[in-house]
Amino acid sequence: MKGLNTRLIHGDEKDSYHSDVRSLKMPVFQTAAYDFEDSASVERAFRGESDSFVYSRISNPTVRELEVRLKSLANAQSSLSVSSGMAAISSTILSICDTGDNIVASKYLFGNTYSFFTKTLSSFGIQVKFVDPENPDEVELSIDAQTRAIFLEVITNPQLIVFDFERISQIAKEKKVLLILDNSLLTPYLFQSHQYGVDIEVLSTTKFISGGATSIGGAVFTYPSDKWQYIPKLQENYQLYGNAAFEKKLRKELFSNLGCCLSPQNAWLQMLGLETLTLRVDRICENAHNLASWLSEQDKVQRVEYSSLEKSPYYQLSEKYFTSKVGCLIAIELKSKKQCFDFMDALKVIRRGTNFCDNKSMIIHPSSTIYCDLSDEAKESFKIPDTLIRLGVGLEDIEDLKTDIQQALDKLK
Ligand SMILES: *Cc1c(COP(=O)(O)O)cnc(C)c1O
Repeated sequence: MKGLNTRLIHGDEKDSYHSDVRSLKMPVFQTAAYDFEDSASVERAFRGESDSFVYSRISNPTVRELEVRLKSLANAQSSLSVSSGMAAISSTILSICDTGDNIVASKYLFGNTYSFFTKTLSSFGIQVKFVDPENPDEVELSIDAQTRAIFLEVITNPQLIVFDFERISQIAKEKKVLLILDNSLLTPYLFQSHQYGVDIEVLSTTKFISGGATSIGGAVFTYPSDKWQYIPKLQENYQLYGNAAFEKKLRKELFSNLGCCLSPQNAWLQMLGLETLTLRVDRICENAHNLASWLSEQDKVQRVEYSSLEKSPYYQLSEKYFTSKVGCLIAIELKSKKQCFDFMDALKVIRRGTNFCDNKSMIIHPSSTIYCDLSDEAKESFKIPDTLIRLGVGLEDIEDLKTDIQQALDKLK
């Protein structure tokens, strides 16, 4: 097989789209519907006996090409592109859970994932049991006969905790529940889920894939698994499709019925981003490591968390699973909330905003923004003190980032 960068740039010889006009860029097929040569081909397409395009809510050539390239990136069994990271998560959970079922989820979650789990899923009668995966026994004890999956994030945001994936994947295997991983922060370039027993991987392609926050998008990957047969909601599909039970349920039912398709224009932008993924991620990881190490020497900074620093409590796990590249996020603690605000307000290059894995560096105070609705007890349990700042490092020149941070720290009393 060709190397990763070659595959991301040229696609797959067998599965990729080939243009009649020899266009070097994948065309944007900006169309809702497709023409058929005769009625028999329409019938075949509707019966699922051909892979002709029918309607762009279901599939589109530009979106399919992105799926082919993402599948190659992840070494996945299947790849589905959706309209956002949240669409990847919601359509996945609704494909495997019925009323009365539950999932066991890490309590350290992306804000909207937490909101989806606590508010939206509860009105479907699907329960989410929150656990601390740093304590694998807690995960194991929470699983019951109605549990369908364990859900966690590759590195938690904003705490930046790294879990012991091997241990958790062993529990999922023994208990015959699916392991779902949100790999948005690292992407399959830095963490290959399939090596650690992950059955389903979800991704916000808005982050690293989009190539600089150009568009919102998501992806769902599946990996070979022998667990589909234990999920009651997949029983019928398992009889029909075996190992493809989940991906068929997702694509043919939830994805189509919820209407969470990615637009061809956004698929094109994300393909463009994909071509430079490894370059950008490598440079951002280098910038972030360098900055984290420098920050931890600054007197006014109380604590820095970045798991490739040797003093990080997650250093061993991080080295084992991620081989030193651990993404763009750095957690920083200052003395008080006021110091955090004063520091952030003094920054001139680093922007105040909610995104990350962008080309631009961005900073936010999680306690007063993303998690502002949580009670003080919940914030304590989720390790989100009001002295914490999340810095998403970008592609700027490292000296400019240091100079910006230095002048802002200097202003603190
Ligand atoms: C951004 C993000 C999401 C949501 O993705 P959207 O594309 O914004 O819907 C989910 N999980 C994680 C870890 C994220 O960072």
